[in-house]
Amino acid sequence: MKITLKVKLITTDEQAKTLLGTMELFNKACDWISEKAFEAKVFNAYDLHYLLYKEGRDVFPSLPSQSMIRAIAKVSDSYKADRKKRHFFRDHSAMEYDRRTLSFKDLSHASLATIGGRIKVPLVFGHYAPLDKNKMLGQADLTYSKGKFFLNLVIDLPDDPPFKPKGSLGIDRGIVNLSTDSEGESFSGETVDKVRERSTAHKARLQKKGTKSAKRRLKKVSGREARFKKDTNHVISKRIVSKAKGTCRAIVLEDLKGIRDGITVMHSQRERFGKWAFGQLRSFILYKAMMSGVPVLFVDPRNTSRQCSCCGHLDRKNRKSQSEFHCVQCGFSLNADHNAAINIASRASVNTPIAV
Ligand SMILES: [Zn+2]
Repeated sequence: MKITLKVKLITTDEQAKTLLGTMELFNKACDWISEKAFEAKVFNAYDLHYLLYKEGRDVFPSLPSQSMIRAIAKVSDSYKADRKKRHFFRDHSAMEYDRRTLSFKDLSHASLATIGGRIKVPLVFGHYAPLDKNKMLGQADLTYSKGKFFLNLVIDLPDDPPFKPKGSLGIDRGIVNLSTDSEGESFSGETVDKVRERSTAHKARLQKKGTKSAKRRLKKVSGREARFKKDTNHVISKRIVSKAKGTCRAIVLEDLKGIRDGITVMHSQRERFGKWAFGQLRSFILYKAMMSGVPVLFVDPRNTSRQCSCCGHLDRKNRKSQSEFHCVQCGFSLNADHNAAINIASRASVNTPIAV
């Protein structure tokens, strides 16, 4: 199975200028090839190469030769769908990279061929589990959006399809407990809260100072906080995925995108979910689950914390406090997050189409 992973490039201003220039030239070349291809009614990559490569090298001498080959391939591909009219390429349309124009020494930097020679750019890979470099196919599109560059890497995953789950492991995410599963195992957010509070105070002081060295320190503190969050999310997601895999269960998450219910759900939960990079935890879980063939299901998140997981009674009064759930109808009581996680698990039918 092939998936695409979008990673951000951390460019210096100069690198950004070079990359943008390269991208624009690449697309100019595509446009030029497209015009000639359409005139000659030649669309096959092999024939186009024969027809245009040499001339293209003369017209765009600063474009790396391998990028000219990719440009020909891109134009040829684009005409596969429609040959009735000439195709145009926007300045900032995606630029194709391959093994010859893109390499990774380790996973922290990408080396890209540009109009200014090879440049080495740091990558933000951190959101994903350590990747096996060999799984990367060396194919990637460079994209540009709102002043930032991204590499859309094509990754080859092991072909074992997700297993057929025999049950479900519900995950409730919160602030006090970052995550609680339907078996009651939870990861406390206490340490995380402390770190955040400390950094927030520290950052505010530095911000007020406003000196150059304070700004440098500010960056450092922010970086440390982000790394701590990331590490914690890695630990949590790893545990959840290995537990689900070990017990042949699907992971069930709240569908926070509100795909089914409109944006209101998202909005009402923003307060609760906004603070701690929940998006990150979610993406770690999804990614790790995908890597190990664990199915992930999404359920409607409404009222998971107010409904009794024992009798199904739904009442605001069921939730006595942040941590306490007590059903006013049947008397069942449990840790509130645990109760919510059981609801999440039971809302998923294992017959629901698999999300990843
Ligand atoms: Zn009840």
